[in-house]
Amino acid sequence: MVKDTKLYDLLGVAPDANASQLKKAYFRLAQQFNPNVPENKEKFQEINNAYELLKDDEKRQLYDRYGLDGMKEAQQGMGGGFGSVFEQFFGGGGMGGGRQQSGPKQAKAIGKEVEVTLEQMYNGADIDVEVERQNKCSECNGVGGSTPNCIGRCDKCNGRGIVIISTQRGNMITQQQSYCPKCQGQGECINDPKNLCKKCNGKRAAIERKVLKVRVEPGTADDFQQTLYQEGNWEPGMSQGDYIIIFKQKKTKLFRREEADLFMDKVIGLDEAVCGTSFKIQHPSGDEITIFRKPGECINHGQILCCKSLGMPIKGRIYEHGNLFIKFEVKFPKQISPEVRELLMRVIGTEDSRKRIGACTELKHDGVKNIELIYMDPSNRTKNADTNRGQREYGDHHDEDHEGGAQQVQCGGM
Ligand SMILES: [Zn+2]
Ligand SMILES: [Zn+2]
Repeated sequence: MVKDTKLYDLLGVAPDANASQLKKAYFRLAQQFNPNVPENKEKFQEINNAYELLKDDEKRQLYDRYGLDGMKEAQQGMGGGFGSVFEQFFGGGGMGGGRQQSGPKQAKAIGKEVEVTLEQMYNGADIDVEVERQNKCSECNGVGGSTPNCIGRCDKCNGRGIVIISTQRGNMITQQQSYCPKCQGQGECINDPKNLCKKCNGKRAAIERKVLKVRVEPGTADDFQQTLYQEGNWEPGMSQGDYIIIFKQKKTKLFRREEADLFMDKVIGLDEAVCGTSFKIQHPSGDEITIFRKPGECINHGQILCCKSLGMPIKGRIYEHGNLFIKFEVKFPKQISPEVRELLMRVIGTEDSRKRIGACTELKHDGVKNIELIYMDPSNRTKNADTNRGQREYGDHHDEDHEGGAQQVQCGGM
């Protein structure tokens, strides 16, 4: 029986939850109460503190036995010793980022980019991300030696972590303090090489590959950075760093995304543009959706129309959505027969247009007074003959001005 369940309640787990259940609960809550949102800060801090305590077996046992109050008394009696977790719970601070307040320094965060589909960003998904990180050597559990008590006072520096290096130059001897190379300034090390861990050779850490479970929330944005708390590198003497996943949205053929809105292009025929249309799309929600325009409601070439709420869900408010905008390209027939033309004119022609259309059959291109429309790539520029010369002269004047000499003063009147 545990003394109090406050911390378990905070994480929403049973008091007999195992390490992986604790971690999952913490992970879920850390996402729910993203600390980057100001109103979540306090709640996240509480959750984080609870997890920090419970994930440490020793502290958890004490907590189960004595409860928070009991631990507080013990802490005062012993003059500290439980470390930063208690300062976070029992006052002293409240400054953001509790984990950095005191205790061992946290190793630098590492991370990677992960491609996710628009569908995963729409619906949310749990994905596996294979990561490479430095962790405690699995053979020696980060001790560096074959037995836990093989570490002793360093015999090179006598436990001081510092050595004096003497160098003789001529008649002069200079002395310099330096970190002990044998214990890396720690004062403790494994003195006997035969006790060194065979796997890591005393380095204590090793590169491991691991598959991390990562939650993609519905409405996640392209380039969003998800911090996985303490899933990054472990380094001797430091607490484990964070792992940062950067979600990159895979390009799709159909949709472009801006914020929570989606954009797509659609080609329709002249008949549809004038008479109404309907077509199906495969929506990122997974549904096949039929989009229509009522008969008689015309669509112009280049017009952008909207399907309300068919955009991406808004993160954290997943019942709200952006919009889907569709830009229409109306494909006109290349040519139409005289019969069709006659029929069309009967329907949409006016006296005025009839006159102008009648004239065009008589007109001849002469390059002077009568000009026929043709197609030409509008991105092709016709160069001015003096384009280059003009630029150079302009540049010269500027240089002169900067140097303060104004010999070629011709620009004044231009
Ligand atoms: Zn090892
Ligand atoms: Zn040493």
